[in-house]
Amino acid sequence: MSLVEDTGFDAIDGGSLAESWRQQPITRAYCSELTADELRAALTAANRMRAPQLREEMVKEFMALGDKITTEDIVRLHRAASGKAIAQSKVAEPLMNQPYTGGCACGAIRYATRHAPVFQNHCQCRDCQRRSGTGHGSYLTFPARAEMTITGEPTHWEVAGDSGNMKIHGFCPVCGTQVYLRFAAMPELIAVPAGSLDEPGRFEPQVLTYRVRALAWDAMDPSLQSFERMPPG
Ligand SMILES: [Zn+2]
Ligand SMILES: [Zn+2]
Repeated sequence: MSLVEDTGFDAIDGGSLAESWRQQPITRAYCSELTADELRAALTAANRMRAPQLREEMVKEFMALGDKITTEDIVRLHRAASGKAIAQSKVAEPLMNQPYTGGCACGAIRYATRHAPVFQNHCQCRDCQRRSGTGHGSYLTFPARAEMTITGEPTHWEVAGDSGNMKIHGFCPVCGTQVYLRFAAMPELIAVPAGSLDEPGRFEPQVLTYRVRALAWDAMDPSLQSFERMPPG
């Protein structure tokens, strides 16, 4: 990577071998002129499910050109397909222009998602108090857990929350920082602690949960919508 940087380009780690499909033909990161930031966003947003459909469409375009096809045609079609993939991802889901990224304190575990959080809360339950070491935990909960890119090898442990539902905690085995939280009853969701974001100022708490466990010394913003336990539903 440093060799590439010496030549004046910004090197970007493309991830593990299992993620290499993101840079193959028809995906957004292939054969396109992107800046370093755009490439990072393209890699984060690459959607494996859409690749086969785009590939089929492009094969038809290649066939239409017949045997007169040139290298320029191939590059042009790939760039067009890349643009199409970006357009489709914008139409299909409300993806964020700027991904939410973050990780543990030592940097061994990193995550990124282009989804918008569906829930942002402070939680004063006993489990959050124990893990945070203070009066509450602060979380952003995202949809589409499978589409969150996680690099590094988190260690997991499970605990029944105050609600009785199992919570699966992922933490960094090197520095011990909590990096995410999953819920056995809601496998689509994944929550990250607000303080683990690269830009923690993006956290916008809307709700306070488990007010019933609040400690007198842990005063919270009284304008937050608060629930004695979890919001109903
Ligand atoms: Zn770490
Ligand atoms: Zn909690």
